[in-house]
Amino acid sequence: MRGVGVSPGIGHGPAYVLSVSVPEPPAGATYTGEADDEKERVTAALGQVAGELEARGNRAGGEAKEILKAQALIVEDPGLVVGVKSLIDRGLAAPRAVYEAFAKYRDMLAGVGGYLGERVADLNDLRDRVIALLTGQALPGLPTDPVEPYVLIARDLAPADTALLHKDYVAAFVTEEGGPTSHTAILARSLGVPAVVACPGALNVPMGARVLVDGTSGEVRQEPTDSDVARAVSEASARKRALRETSGPGRTSDGFEVPLLANIGGPGELDAALAHGAEGIGLYRTEFLFLDKDHTPSAEEQERAYRTVLEAFPGGKVVVRTLDAGADKPLPFLPPLAAEPNPALGERGLRLFRRFPDVMRSQLSALAAAAEGTYAQLDVMAPMVATAEEARWFAEQCREAGLTSRGVMIEIPAAAIRAESLVTVVDFISIGTNDLAQYTFAADRTLAALGRLQDAWQPALLDLVARAATAASDNGKPCGACGESAADPVMACVLVGLGATTLSMSPSALPTVRAALAEHTLGECELAAQAARAATTPAHARAAARSCLLGLARLGL
Ligand code: PEP
Ligand code: MG
Repeated sequence: MRGVGVSPGIGHGPAYVLSVSVPEPPAGATYTGEADDEKERVTAALGQVAGELEARGNRAGGEAKEILKAQALIVEDPGLVVGVKSLIDRGLAAPRAVYEAFAKYRDMLAGVGGYLGERVADLNDLRDRVIALLTGQALPGLPTDPVEPYVLIARDLAPADTALLHKDYVAAFVTEEGGPTSHTAILARSLGVPAVVACPGALNVPMGARVLVDGTSGEVRQEPTDSDVARAVSEASARKRALRETSGPGRTSDGFEVPLLANIGGPGELDAALAHGAEGIGLYRTEFLFLDKDHTPSAEEQERAYRTVLEAFPGGKVVVRTLDAGADKPLPFLPPLAAEPNPALGERGLRLFRRFPDVMRSQLSALAAAAEGTYAQLDVMAPMVATAEEARWFAEQCREAGLTSRGVMIEIPAAAIRAESLVTVVDFISIGTNDLAQYTFAADRTLAALGRLQDAWQPALLDLVARAATAASDNGKPCGACGESAADPVMACVLVGLGATTLSMSPSALPTVRAALAEHTLGECELAAQAARAATTPAHARAAARSCLLGLARLGL
């Protein structure tokens, strides 16, 4: 399984699956006694939960103390208390009134989106604690004295669960939900426990099954072999060493420069990009600016976000991808024309943009305005481009908006096969191996069951990458690689050998890739690429590439 690695390191151990089970109080449930007694019950329960949270925070100290203090304040928030009491006045029993008042509060936060939106899981936990108290139920607890450290798996973890966890008890966290700024992520980092969030399918892991978690790559493996564990542990320590030892711009050992760039979803990830030595941004997924809204963000709001990113890299490259909405990232205000039985094959990315030209124009002009007076090189590219005609149309729209460097992503097989005709009408291309794999193998990227077809080492995928990269180099145009595969140091060398001129990845992967490139010549990378393409299975392709990249062993990779 793969999620988002939010706290680096390797953790392994038996799974402890935390399933929260405070059932929803029945809709319309009423009480029999006096309203005032019912209200008193609620006030006491809210007070007790707030008190417990504060006490836990005091015991835990540090970051947890602050977080739990804030949560105690939420539980006793006057607005919330008034909401609960007025529902009681309307006849609802205390547990149901609490349930509904929290729901209102939660919708409000979710509507705000962003950081506050990610606090939604915390609110559910607070609500469940109050309801459990009112209904005399026990909350599911965590093992306090385990025989060996466990991998804690949950839908999402609330600060109250994690605050008192001890590093000696927990080998890693994995959550199905949650984002990089969820409290799980924040606390995991402050505890120094490896963590992966947004990992679909995590809750299906059986209790007690052995699990290996890579908090850097986001990989979660069930029932790993001893050698899987040994390799992961040695890779993690190599990564730590690489982080300490290599710095400076990306280049091969014979001096071929390969700028190493970061994939980000917004300005909030710039710190991580800079901390890991990104030379620029290779993929700014701008849809995150739109996702939690019910309307197109204003020109000022867009310009501000774009400018913040551009200003972080004076003299560097910043590749901004225009809105990639649709499919798994639907926007309520940009609906597809008709219901889509296969959204991944529907109106997504550039296709949606063509139908909403105003949204497109507002984004392109906000980008042009943001670039004014900044010193980064702004490259703007479109997602989900299938044909040369689409590429030409997009480049023309960019030109009209005053954008000088225009490109397209190569993530649809048709675009890779005819890359020559696309690359001649734009200034650069960037290969998105995530979608290119999805569409090449007709394997939905969100389906864990088809993971083996999502493997970037599939020789068919390597052939398409090679084809696109060759078309770019034949035409003297840059070719980036910005799918997750670039984060694998072995694949990163192969991508360079196939002709990628820049690599872009999650920030935390940059140091390892920088170290891997610095250990090999361009010729070695080319040999590795040839060897991988000559293989017939992904496993053989990776092994063949490794056999040409002897410096990996020197790094312990
Ligand atoms: C890709 O498809 O490889 C890519 C980089 O874009 P995203 O993952 O945002 O679809
Ligand atoms: Mg994509």
